[in-house]
Amino acid sequence: LEPKEEFEQKTLAMDVMRPRRNDPPLSVLTQDGMTVEEVEGMISDTSYSGFPVVVSHQSQRLVGFVLRRDLVISIDNARCCQDGIVGASRVLFTEHTPSHPYQGGPPPLSLRPILDLSPLAITDHTPMEITVDIFRKLGLRQCLVTQNGCLLGIITKKDILKHMAQMANRDPDSILFN
Ligand code: ADP
Repeated sequence: LEPKEEFEQKTLAMDVMRPRRNDPPLSVLTQDGMTVEEVEGMISDTSYSGFPVVVSHQSQRLVGFVLRRDLVISIDNARCCQDGIVGASRVLFTEHTPSHPYQGGPPPLSLRPILDLSPLAITDHTPMEITVDIFRKLGLRQCLVTQNGCLLGIITKKDILKHMAQMANRDPDSILFN
């Protein structure tokens, strides 16, 4: 791959990341405040390989990234083997879990152990030739796009392949990432 040949100089991460302008927002988890049921709903309503975790929907401040398969395994395990975990249990990605159960509610489920606390993130202005280089050199499957620590989008390896195919107008299987 010669990135310079494949990309116009001006293609930036923001041009390739999802969501696109009129797409629904990213599916994200909040670090504290969702229930087991809500997380299960997000898993069954989407097929994404992973979900960014943010401080809150309002701030969109990035906390980390969690893989779908780890979520499924951990929730299934907790539901079957961890005392008191039910649909209404709160899911926490925070460092500290409260020592007392909430006002008589079910105990919370900490999923901190499956949280990747330093997922690779690039800014929305990163040129795609650099982004492709990072993907190749680090063997990434996805990376997050942020601006001042706030989540804007996600780029997967397939997004890059599709974008390159569009630009080169040829089969995505024939280029990059062999
Ligand atoms: P792939 O691109 O390999 O199919 P995914 O299934 O994770 O991987 O992603 C499918 C599409 O959805 C990609 O275009 C990706 O940018 C986007 N995407 C990935 N994760 C999310 C998410 N949590 N919320 C919204 N869109 C996402």
